[in-house]
Amino acid sequence: MTTGKIALLLVDAVGRHGQLQAVKSLSLSIAENEVVALIGANGAGKTTLMRMLAGLHPLAEGRLALFGNDVTALPAHDRVKAGIVLSPEGRRLFGDMTVRENLMIAAENGRRGDWTVATACDAFPQIVPLLDRPAGGLSGGQRQAVAIARALVANPSVLLLDEVSLGLSPAAVDGVYQSLAALRGRMTMVVVEQDLTRAMSFAERLICMAEGVLELDGNPAVLTREEITNAYFGIHKTTGASHA
Ligand code: ATP
Repeated sequence: MTTGKIALLLVDAVGRHGQLQAVKSLSLSIAENEVVALIGANGAGKTTLMRMLAGLHPLAEGRLALFGNDVTALPAHDRVKAGIVLSPEGRRLFGDMTVRENLMIAAENGRRGDWTVATACDAFPQIVPLLDRPAGGLSGGQRQAVAIARALVANPSVLLLDEVSLGLSPAAVDGVYQSLAALRGRMTMVVVEQDLTRAMSFAERLICMAEGVLELDGNPAVLTREEITNAYFGIHKTTGASHA
């Protein structure tokens, strides 16, 4: 349930990799506590957009506001302190450190709040037996659970999760989404998800990128599979044209 406040407001944002515009003048408004799934084919620009929101990739043009405050110029570590936290594609845990140490470092660098190592363990009970193990030796599902817990202990108001289910077993995906479902109403979530069925059942809003632009933005309960598939592949329908 959203509150009506705007958590993230992105206006005319451009993200480049050299000459390539990976994100093309994209505008997006996301409400507080909204749960958004971001989908799109490989190379659509999803990761670049997530990294732009997190301050890990610069906005070549445009601006970003968090709860009305302009954060465009804030570097990533300051955006974490402001409440925008990304759990990146590939998880990026410190492999030589224990799970507990990974969580403690994130907690120190984040905001103060209700989320601590203990409360994150309540939300992700599957990590409790792993706390003293080196993060490098974990399975994909375990690493993903730890990566999300690590994001939580920074006390995000906006949690960005890139490629939630990539490389995980179906059982591990179920476990992670069960824990994520319990976070509803406590924070804004933007989740990059390749599994369309999963994205549609988890999120209350589906946005689809193709070639750096937003092709579709709507309620997954209302959108048809055909609309979503067309947006995914960047297929534009011609309307009303008569070739008689
Ligand atoms: P995927 O699902 O494959 O991760 P994506 O939707 O997340 O795709 P991006 O990774 O944001 O898309 O890539 C968008 C475009 O930018 C692609 O054309 C990609 O080749 C290009 N790109 C991404 N990262 C770089 C980089 N570091 N250097 C050059 N080009 C890049």
